[in-house]
Amino acid sequence: MRQVFKAPSYEAAWRRFRWRALAHLGALLGGVFSAALLTFTRGAVLGGPGCWRKYLGLSLFITVPLTSHRVTRWPCPRCGHPFHQRGNVALCTTPSCLHCGLPKWAASAHAQ
Ligand SMILES: [Zn+2]
Repeated sequence: MRQVFKAPSYEAAWRRFRWRALAHLGALLGGVFSAALLTFTRGAVLGGPGCWRKYLGLSLFITVPLTSHRVTRWPCPRCGHPFHQRGNVALCTTPSCLHCGLPKWAASAHAQ
């Protein structure tokens, strides 16, 4: 009997990466949007002028590095190493894995 091995699909892995990237984008845009909103309302929502800086600091300096870390450390579905990071260098716009060369959004391990 001949065994046929089906190539594993990376669809679920890319879906998880997409959520991480959207969370990072949401943290960036949410921080900028909330800063603009709080500047426009002069912090009246949070208790007066100057309070918006604390909110902005909390938003930008905690959520953005956390979400950025999750994006850069996302494991490649083929090799398991961080897809966007090699050593101390992180390239979030790289078109392929920095370790094995898997193209971004590749459907399977055999994609070139
Ligand atoms: Zn890889």
